[in-house]
Amino acid sequence: MRSHLGTDPTGPFDYIIVGAGVAGCTLAAQIVTRNLGSVLLLDAGDPDRSYRLRVPAEYPTAFGTSWDWSFRTTNQAGLARRSIPLPAGRALGGSSAINAMIYIEASPSDFGEWAKVAGERWSELPCREAFLQVRNWIGKLTRTIPTQLMSRYDSVFNATLPSIPELYPTIQKALQQFHNRHQTASSYPHGLDRPHAGFDAYLRMQHNGRRISAWKLLQLALNATTPKDSHLFSCLHAAYVRSVEFDRDRAVGVRIMSHGKERVIQAHRGVILSAGTFGTPRVLFASGIGSRDEFQAIDVPHRFESPRLGKNLQDHLVLPMVYRLKCGTTVSHPPNREDRLTYLQNRKGPRASNLAELGGFFNSLADTASIASSREPFDFQWHITPTHYLEYPNLVSHTPHLSFGLTHVAPKSRGFVKPIRASDSNDHEVALHIDPGYLSDPGDLSGWLQGISRTRELLQGDGWCDWLAEESLPGARRSDAKVLELFVRRFATTIYHYAGTCSLGITNRDALDEQFRVRGIDGLWVCDASAMPTLVRCNPQATIMMMAWRLADWLP
Ligand SMILES: Cc1cc2nc3c(=O)[nH]c(=O)nc-3n(C[C@H](O)[C@H](O)[C@H](O)COP(=O)(O)OP(=O)(O)OC[C@H]3O[C@@H](n4cnc5c(N)ncnc54)[C@H](O)[C@@H]3O)c2cc1C
Repeated sequence: MRSHLGTDPTGPFDYIIVGAGVAGCTLAAQIVTRNLGSVLLLDAGDPDRSYRLRVPAEYPTAFGTSWDWSFRTTNQAGLARRSIPLPAGRALGGSSAINAMIYIEASPSDFGEWAKVAGERWSELPCREAFLQVRNWIGKLTRTIPTQLMSRYDSVFNATLPSIPELYPTIQKALQQFHNRHQTASSYPHGLDRPHAGFDAYLRMQHNGRRISAWKLLQLALNATTPKDSHLFSCLHAAYVRSVEFDRDRAVGVRIMSHGKERVIQAHRGVILSAGTFGTPRVLFASGIGSRDEFQAIDVPHRFESPRLGKNLQDHLVLPMVYRLKCGTTVSHPPNREDRLTYLQNRKGPRASNLAELGGFFNSLADTASIASSREPFDFQWHITPTHYLEYPNLVSHTPHLSFGLTHVAPKSRGFVKPIRASDSNDHEVALHIDPGYLSDPGDLSGWLQGISRTRELLQGDGWCDWLAEESLPGARRSDAKVLELFVRRFATTIYHYAGTCSLGITNRDALDEQFRVRGIDGLWVCDASAMPTLVRCNPQATIMMMAWRLADWLP
C-alpha cells in the first residue's frame, strides 16, 4: 500500500490519531489493514532518522535532545526533593523510538486488578487472546521466529515472538548463574503460564541489530497490505496538536500547529488521542476537558467536566545496585573502533545491545531458594545491564561493572498531573505540573528495603562471589535501614513507565469508559499508556499494543 508521509496530506479522513507512538502506530496499522476506514496520523516529532534512535545502545544519548519531550517532575518530597527528568520520545514511533525495546506481556494478576476497576472486558482471558494476536502480528511482519524459543513456547502457544538477539558475554555469564541455580523463568513472556517468576534474557523489539519501533512495524504492515486505496493512510509529522475541535458534544477534528501555521483538520468518525501519559491529558486540558477548579490556573474555557482526568499517575522507580567485576568486559561509551566496526560489518557486538538484556521478576518475601517457583504475585524486577547503570553513556570509570536495576513494579504511591499556564505559548496552550508522588505511600519504602536485602541474598554463593568483586552501590557497608532508606531517596529514579492519567474505569468519574471512549463526548477516544487503570507489573509497551489492538475491535 502506498502511504502519504508529508507536510500536507489531503483528506477527508475517517479517523485522526494524535500521536505516532506505540499505541497510535499499532492502532493506525489495524484500522488501515483491517479496512476499517481512512486514517490521518499526526505527530509533533519527526521521522526517526538519527543513529541515536536506530542503533540500540545509543538510545540514552537521545535523552534531552530534540527527540525527547524532556518532561520533569516537581521536586519530589519522597526523593530527597529531587526533580526527576522524564524522557518521552518525540519522533515517529514515540517512546518506542528511544526505549530499551524490552517486550513483556503483563501477568494474570495485572488483569485481575484491571477487571475490578474496568470491568470483565479487561479480565485475563480476552487480554491474553489479544496478546497472542499482537505477537503473531509482530512475528509475521518481522519474520522473527527465534529458533531458541520455538521449542519452549511455540509448540504450546502456536505463536511467534519478538527476538532475543545475541547476548553480551557478561550477560551470558550471568544467565548461566541463573541456570545453575534453577532460577530461570519457567514461562516467558509472562501471562502465558504460571508461575512466571525467575530470570531470563529479555525479548526485544529488535531485528538484525536494529530497533523495531512501532513506526517501523506500521510501515511493515502497510507494505504487506495489498494496494487498495492510497488515501487510506496519511501521516503528518512536525504537527503539534493543540486541541480537539467540537460540534456541541461531538469531536469533529483537531487544531494543529504545523510549520508555524495553525489549522483545523476534520475527522468524519472521530479523534483518537494516543499522545502518551503526559501528551494526552495536555491536549484534553487545552480542549477544555478536566476538573473545573483546575481551569482557574489557565486561559482555556472549561467545557466538559472530567474529575479524575490527570489523577492516578503511576510509575516504576529503579534503584541501581552496581557491582564491580573481578574479570570480564563492560559496554563502554563512546564505542571503541572495534565495536564500531563489528556493528558496521554485521550489526553485532555491544552497539547492538539494548543494555538491559537480562532480568526477571521475584517476590521479595519469597524464600531465596524457591524464588523462581513462587506463586505469589511478584513485586520486584531486575534490569541487568553490563555496564555502570548510573554513569552510562557518560562513563567515568572504565573498570567492568554489572548493574542490577532493582525495579519496584507494585508501588502503591500515586500522583497527578494538572494544567498550568505555559510560559512559551508558541505551541502549547497549557503546560503540565507533574507530580508522580514517588514514595508517598509509606508501604513502598519498606518494600524497597525488602527488595534490596533479597537482591543481596540472591547474589550470594560461589558462582556470584567468584565473579562479583564488590557492591559499589549502595555499598556492602550500607546495611542499616535508615541509611538504605536515604540511599533509596537519593538514588532511585524513573524507569520511564509513566501511566494512568486518563484511565479506563466503570464509574462515571473515570475519564474513560471500558472501551476507551471519553465520557460525555461522542467521537473521542483515548488509547495509550494514560488509559491504564493500574500500571502493569512489567515494561508496558506490549500491553499498550494489546490495548490498541482491542480498540480496533471496538471502533464503529
Ligand atoms: C527511555 C525509555 C525506555 C523505555 N523502555 C521500555 C522498554 O524497554 N520496554 C517497554 O515495554 N517499555 C519501555 N518504555 C515505556 C514505553 O516506551 C512507553 O510506555 C510507551 O512508548 C508509551 O506508549 P504511548 O503510545 O502511550 O506513548 P508514546 O509511545 O510515547 O507516543 C506518544 C506520541 O505522541 C506524540 N505527541 C505527544 N503530544 C503530542 C501533540 N500535542 N501533538 C502531536 N503529537 C504529540 C509524541 O511525539 C509521541 O510520538 C520506555 C520508555 C522510555 C521513555
